Amino acid sequence: MRVWAKWSACLCLSLMLWTATAESTHNHPLRTGSVSCSICVVAHSASPTLSSNQSAPVFAAVSLLRDEDVVAKAHFDFSELGSRGPPVL
Ligand SMILES: [Zn+2]
Repeated sequence: MRVWAKWSACLCLSLMLWTATAESTHNHPLRTGSVSCSICVVAHSASPTLSSNQSAPVFAAVSLLRDEDVVAKAHFDFSELGSRGPPVL
């Protein structure tokens, strides 16, 4: 990774960190300031409701699993070259 990419990534991460810190710790000395603050308006708004019409999951069979035994077919193939005896002295 190039140097400028690392520095820009660090800059973006630090900006995100500072923004999150500023948003979570800011306060208004006067009550009237929180009315026009967009962060406070979003934080104190009503909780969002679900907009989905289908709340229950639908279970349907896609296919059936057929259980079959797996038998390995072992096969020894000795040839004359592979099965010779020990050398005779
Ligand atoms: Zn605020």
